[in-house]
Amino acid sequence: MTRDIFGDSPVRERNFASDNNSGSCPEVLSILEECNHHHAPGYGDDDWTKRAEDKVRDLFEADCSVFFVFNGTAANSLALATMCRSYHAILCHRMSHVQTDECGAPEFFGGGTKVIGLEGKACRLSAETIEEAATRRDDVHFPKVKALSLTQATEVGTAYGLDELRGISEACDRHDLRIHLDGARLANALAKLEVSPKELISASKADALSFGSTKNGSPMGDAVVIFDKELAREFAFRRKQAGQLASKMRYLAAPWIALLENDLWLSNANQANSIAEQLKIELSAIPEVKVLFPREANSVFVDIPEKVQAVLRAKGWLFYVFIGKTGCRLMCSWDLVSQDVEDFVTDLREALAL
Ligand SMILES: *Cc1c(COP(=O)(O)O)cnc(C)c1O
Repeated sequence: MTRDIFGDSPVRERNFASDNNSGSCPEVLSILEECNHHHAPGYGDDDWTKRAEDKVRDLFEADCSVFFVFNGTAANSLALATMCRSYHAILCHRMSHVQTDECGAPEFFGGGTKVIGLEGKACRLSAETIEEAATRRDDVHFPKVKALSLTQATEVGTAYGLDELRGISEACDRHDLRIHLDGARLANALAKLEVSPKELISASKADALSFGSTKNGSPMGDAVVIFDKELAREFAFRRKQAGQLASKMRYLAAPWIALLENDLWLSNANQANSIAEQLKIELSAIPEVKVLFPREANSVFVDIPEKVQAVLRAKGWLFYVFIGKTGCRLMCSWDLVSQDVEDFVTDLREALAL
């Protein structure tokens, strides 16, 4: 992946670089203003945090434990470290964020835990692949496979269906693997699947979930949702030790109240997904470019020739190249509108005609 997409050209107000490039939605900003008015106890002992935790529990219809942390890397790596000892291994897709984008944080916080990246079409793992990886070795010379981390929606914008998740969780059960979901874009997956959070958790039998809000309209503050009481007791210490226990916790927690009120999280996700769908439809009509994966969440991956990419960049469009030199990721934020797609596609068609 190329990181230096921000060249010298002036960039557009809204872009396709990442759903963390967009701002926060007005409802979130207004609740931050509200919680700014009075003093409140620190470290999560305040009413804003309690209300936000309750709202997450209501959403999952479960007596789960909720921990707010600053970002997704902390959520993932600390959740996984809580599940594993130093000699354990975590299975995940080879393109997963925990494997490729966290600078080894899961291994670091696990004190040596090994992350093992597996193959799978369109960034999804199959029950068979997991079964095979969990049973490949059982000698002391190889780390003991203890956990599985699944990304939902995946890094290439696909989503696991409930039946797939059931098959995977059965394989995990057979081999006593803990299950973690990286839900940086869980909202987009739920919007696509049209199932309740409870249905998804019950199909996946997740022990812990990293639930993202940053890409869904908040400035920061993801949630670790733990469905196992014993893990939750341990997690509280992990979070503090890792420097992720915010003293002014209400600023991480309050955005969740706004997002979960009136299902704003879901309408933001639906907006992002529908922009991605529009983009996919328009791109599919252009013979010179090729859409690479099924569009299921809020991104479209498309092969664009390098020369054409350069023309688009010069016109202020931002996007990352994820696969080889031409596999571009067009990531759609909650705040994009149809006109952004129209403008991009017009510029793309023009660039192709040069
Ligand atoms: C964005 C993202 C995260 C969180 O990353 P941070 O930058 O640490 O907040 C985690 N997983 C996936 C799949 C992501 O796309």
